[in-house]
Amino acid sequence: METKKICYKCLLEDLDEKKIYSTVKEMIDSIPENEKTPEEEYRRRLGICRECDSLISGTCVKCGCYVELRAAGRTRTCPDVKNKWEP
Ligand code: SF4
Repeated sequence: METKKICYKCLLEDLDEKKIYSTVKEMIDSIPENEKTPEEEYRRRLGICRECDSLISGTCVKCGCYVELRAAGRTRTCPDVKNKWEP
């Protein structure tokens, strides 16, 4: 079975939107289970991002991260000074 490598050096212009999502999804899927945010907390974080003015096309302008990827890491925090993910 062929293992696909993630290209960290690609620019967004090199990728189409479906490709970007699938690349982000691959990165999320590659996070070890013990480091991954539980589904309920993941959805809660993304719900906050959806209401946030800093969300632009899936990217947080505060840090430049894809929010779906950032939210998927258990120990990651919202980069806003107020840490909007704080319960
Ligand atoms: S500032 Fe926080 S809540 Fe807003 S989009 Fe970025 S990660 Fe999400």
